[in-house]
Amino acid sequence: MRARVVVIGGGAFGASSFYHLVARGIPDVVLLEQATLGSGSTGRSAAVVETQYLAPDQVALCGWSIRVFRWLEREHALPFVHHGYLRLGHSAADVAGFHESVALQRAQGLGDARVIEPGEVARIVPALRVDDLAGALWGPSDGYVDAVRYCELLAGLGRAAAGRVLQGRRVTGLRLRGGRVTAVVGWLQRVPGSAFEAVDVSALMVDPNSGQSAGAPGVPAAPSALTVSMLGTAP
Ligand SMILES: Cc1cc2nc3c(=O)[nH]c(=O)nc-3n(C[C@H](O)[C@H](O)[C@H](O)COP(=O)(O)OP(=O)(O)OC[C@H]3O[C@@H](n4cnc5c(N)ncnc54)[C@H](O)[C@@H]3O)c2cc1C
Repeated sequence: MRARVVVIGGGAFGASSFYHLVARGIPDVVLLEQATLGSGSTGRSAAVVETQYLAPDQVALCGWSIRVFRWLEREHALPFVHHGYLRLGHSAADVAGFHESVALQRAQGLGDARVIEPGEVARIVPALRVDDLAGALWGPSDGYVDAVRYCELLAGLGRAAAGRVLQGRRVTGLRLRGGRVTAVVGWLQRVPGSAFEAVDVSALMVDPNSGQSAGAPGVPAAPSALTVSMLGTAP
């Protein structure tokens, strides 16, 4: 098998990277997943999608990503339950921060977040004690998605645009030449004695969690901090 770019791991990070590489027109991208898409920690996460953050960069990042989730919901039937998201405040300073968040969200085109009184919090969550609250930040259209379906959709969209997705492929090593990765090797899950190899590789994208378990030479042993750049508008 030949591949120019290999993505190891089909969790949220790997599936998203795979989709965005293919969508940008990078040829010959292959995603290798040892089990099934979303079967790692992604499939066990609460998969909450919300924008009630306070820092401008977090709000901007959420503003970008929520457009992707809504696009997947609208155009590709991603299950997205909009039960709302509450951030509770116990002081006047908290509430002032919530008002700033609403202004930041409006600037990002996110329209429905608002600051609410404790009485309204009690109406939304009757079981909650609210006598110690100063207010809350309420995002009524926030919610959670089906995280496995999210991975499957991104992988499917990448596949439809000529990317390849191979499940049941466990990566066990890399071949390096001159300090650069040239091939990815591994075996087929559940097939004793089997092997596969991706050659002519010029770029490698390691899903953070798969890097940890791959234990392969050249694969980072632990995730490291990344600078995230948004290179275009969300769909
Ligand atoms: C909608 C959504 C909302 C989230 N919200 C939050 C949040 O608010 N706060 C928070 O902290 N986190 C959040 N998360 C993150 C979540 O909890 C997980 O941390 C995240 O999804 C992990 O993604 P991953 O792709 O790094 O790992 P994983 O899902 O574990 O994917 C790694 C994949 O690599 C595969 N793999 C491993 N080793 C190999 C190998 N050798 N060869 C081939 N494949 C291999 C595994 O089988 C697995 O499928 C959210 C996730 C989603 C999807």
